[in-house]
Amino acid sequence: MKYSEIMVRYGELSTKGKNKKDFIKQLGHNVRKALQQFDDVEVKAQHDRLHVTLNGADSAAVMDRLGGVFGIENFSPSVKVEKDIDAIKATALAMVKEIFKPGMTFKINTRRQDKAFEYDTNHLNDLLGGYILENVPGIQVKMKKPDLTLRVEVRMNGVFLSGQTIQGAGGLPVGTGGKAVMMLSGGIDSPVASYYAMRRGVKLDMVHFFSPPYTSEQALAKAKELTARMAGYSGGIQFIQVPFTKIQETIKEQVPEGYLMTIQRRLMLRLTAAIAEMRHAKGIFNGESLGQVASQTLESMMAINDVTTMPILRPLLSMDKTEIIKVAEDIDTYDLSILPYEDCCTIFTPPAPKTRPDLEKSRKYEKYIDVEGLMKEALDGITITDIRPNDKFLNQNEDVFAELL
Ligand code: ATP
Ligand code: MG
Repeated sequence: MKYSEIMVRYGELSTKGKNKKDFIKQLGHNVRKALQQFDDVEVKAQHDRLHVTLNGADSAAVMDRLGGVFGIENFSPSVKVEKDIDAIKATALAMVKEIFKPGMTFKINTRRQDKAFEYDTNHLNDLLGGYILENVPGIQVKMKKPDLTLRVEVRMNGVFLSGQTIQGAGGLPVGTGGKAVMMLSGGIDSPVASYYAMRRGVKLDMVHFFSPPYTSEQALAKAKELTARMAGYSGGIQFIQVPFTKIQETIKEQVPEGYLMTIQRRLMLRLTAAIAEMRHAKGIFNGESLGQVASQTLESMMAINDVTTMPILRPLLSMDKTEIIKVAEDIDTYDLSILPYEDCCTIFTPPAPKTRPDLEKSRKYEKYIDVEGLMKEALDGITITDIRPNDKFLNQNEDVFAELL
């Protein structure tokens, strides 16, 4: 079927009262951005719907993009016909026939904006329902939960028919929830946490710590490529890479082994908070899940959180690893996350990090190093990259990909 437009329904934001205007504007903006590669597509946001007029663009490709835009509850590919009852009937029948399977139930659901149209909603429901029953042997009418609801909308500029409703990404439009920074490693968890943060409308900047020569170029490329996958949900993301080698080496030299990890994490968080403040971000997200590893106990969180008053948000806090992996697969980050490039923490992780670090001792041992000087040097060494959806950074020819396939 050749569709003329995709009709997009909003999710939660239709209940948001006074913020509604901003939400619709942001969603319209995000949808336009997501569809910018389609030159002829037009996007028109209205109070309860958004209309994406295809003007010949490939509907499947457009819907694929729409599926990644937060704030969309669902959408329906629609066909526009003239306000002529025979044309409406013919298109309705063709649509049903395309989807029909034996034993299928259906109903017609008509909305009429153009009150001057000669048929009212009941009349149209009856007419079209009768016509389908006559022409599709075996189909039955069912009012509650039919297999197929054929929606007919009589608007001022034509009649729109649709037979499918496709689930959208849900959540809130990215940008409506303010800006935060995400601590992105190359692991499984932080991309999933990023997904959940963006789903609540938060615009993210990614902060990534890397430690050459202990970590490779490929480890950095992997974090960037993960960012590119996430960028599909927000149009584009700034990737902030922070050199962490000197800090790690200094900590390894100066701090008792049981506290290496805690002090490293405190420094990471101090730097992330400083970056967040510089960029006027209002919070820090990470991929921690309670009890997963030594640094993710309540005692550890207390000893690490101590360095900032900025809110630290942990979307994965109560999720099990198996659940997190499932989401990583769904959002298409898992295959990248499991590529075996060392990340900066694993290398300097002592064999037995303290699972219950003491807050006072953490504060004391941190004083063994020049926190301010080291931070300044790291912040001076930051590099920022603008990452677009699906940008590539990894060397795809590496053997490691072949091994994994
Ligand atoms: P992940 O899969 O996200 O790496 P993890 O289970 O491996 O998580 P940790 O390595 O302990 O857990 O890291 C906990 C969190 O700290 C990460 O989810 C991430 O938010 C942050 N983090 C860890 N390493 C880095 C890094 N190199 N750069 C930025 N953030 C990091
Ligand atoms: Mg990790």
